[in-house]
Amino acid sequence: MTVRPMNIDPDKCLIGGAWIAPTGGQTLPLTNPSDGSRLCQIARGQGADIDAAVAAAEAALNGPWGQATAAERGRILAKIGRAVQDHADELARLEAMDVGKPLKQARADVMALARYMEFYGGAADKVHGATIPYLDGYTVYTLREPHGVTGHIIPWNYPMQIIGRSVGAALAMGNACVLKPAEEACLTALAFARIAQQAGLPDGALNVVPGLGAEAGAALASHTGVHHISFTGSVGVGKLIQQQAGANVVPVTLELGGKSPQVVFDDADIDAALPFLVNAGIQNAGQTCSASSRILVQRGVYDQVVAAMADRYGALRAGPALEDHDLGPLVSARQKEIVSAFLAQGAGLHCVAQGQVTAEAPQTGAYVQPTLFADVPPDHVLAQDEIFGPVQVLIPFDDEAEAIRIANSTPFGLVASCWSANGARQMRMARALRAGQVFLNNYGAGGGVELPFGGSGLSGHGREKGFEALYGFSTVKTVAAFHG
Ligand code: ADP
Repeated sequence: MTVRPMNIDPDKCLIGGAWIAPTGGQTLPLTNPSDGSRLCQIARGQGADIDAAVAAAEAALNGPWGQATAAERGRILAKIGRAVQDHADELARLEAMDVGKPLKQARADVMALARYMEFYGGAADKVHGATIPYLDGYTVYTLREPHGVTGHIIPWNYPMQIIGRSVGAALAMGNACVLKPAEEACLTALAFARIAQQAGLPDGALNVVPGLGAEAGAALASHTGVHHISFTGSVGVGKLIQQQAGANVVPVTLELGGKSPQVVFDDADIDAALPFLVNAGIQNAGQTCSASSRILVQRGVYDQVVAAMADRYGALRAGPALEDHDLGPLVSARQKEIVSAFLAQGAGLHCVAQGQVTAEAPQTGAYVQPTLFADVPPDHVLAQDEIFGPVQVLIPFDDEAEAIRIANSTPFGLVASCWSANGARQMRMARALRAGQVFLNNYGAGGGVELPFGGSGLSGHGREKGFEALYGFSTVKTVAAFHG
């Protein structure tokens, strides 16, 4: 099946408000991972297309978009949010086909995108500078200004949510954006930009150039006309992007995934914890930066948690995205190879349960069985590396000190949770866990739009979401006036 959905031209770039064929005239195939079929061809943007997109963004800053007041920007974003909701069904189907995400999860992503627009629309005119007491005869104040042209390089796992959090915040602060979606999934990025344009976003304020990472992505990250780069993706590419942007002394925000632990103590409400323990591992087939792939359980309740999670795993079903099972396929055959190689490394481990791929799921789809391992040594590769698939490991511990040691024993630090009825322990754990977000008696993969999100160590640096993102997508100018 080929798609030409929602008034978009998937084999073109959207630059300055117009559909433009990539200068090299080349396209790339886009695959439906539920059955391996060809969805359509997408543009293979190159350096010249990035040049054109950066020029269009610069022109927007010098035009009506650059002159819009904060309140006007906010109103446009709010309108975009409503327009996204009006197109919820089409966007969800598009994402389900492109990413392989079960329809219900794709729909939740649409709602998150709309909510980001609502949040950042409301926040656009609420970011203030300060007045600063200084020497006699001076008035000093600060201005919050946009960086200018912002580059957004995003992955395939949550295109709509990541567009919402980065492009939404950047536009709220008055930047003009160049977006390079992933080559595996870029249809909702194009559809969103079209919706935004129709909702009143001036031409050039948001430009989309699909293409390969090493071509369009590298051209954007190293462009001298770009003033800020936000990147979500793998650690290896994050390091490259930081180097490329660093050559031009351009600031970067990096969100590079994790190996996020949930720590369950003997006094926890196990029934309340169980859905969070499992869902945080299998949501989006585990292809989530903030997936909880390590479950640390105190020995007093360890057997109980292992048995209850094994029950849930046994009931899990993976199947075509549009059929809306617990899990869809992985995004691609390549991702299936990567996850299968990790599963092979678990051969000597205690595999306590696996879910099933439905009998009707096409053999040509990129399906893997969700898999739960128990008694995994904390230094095992499956307990240390980000797998990006539906695989969770259970690790027992004796006391709080050991839990903290194990939880903090990976090079990542994105999200963590603590399940315990003991308030003092919750406070100690919240401080001790190395993570940008800590959840106490709950777990939110990435959390709501209001909650600052980002990591430390190999999880990256900088914060997106909430008001923190507005500070990240702007800079401070200090004005010192001497008036005597
Ligand atoms: P994953 O391994 O999850 O596919 P990547 O980090 O490879 O994630 O990709 C995330 C985004 O980074 C995608 O849009 C991809 O095209 C882009 N990308 C990949 N390689 C590069 C690169 N060398 N320079 C800039 N962007 C890149």
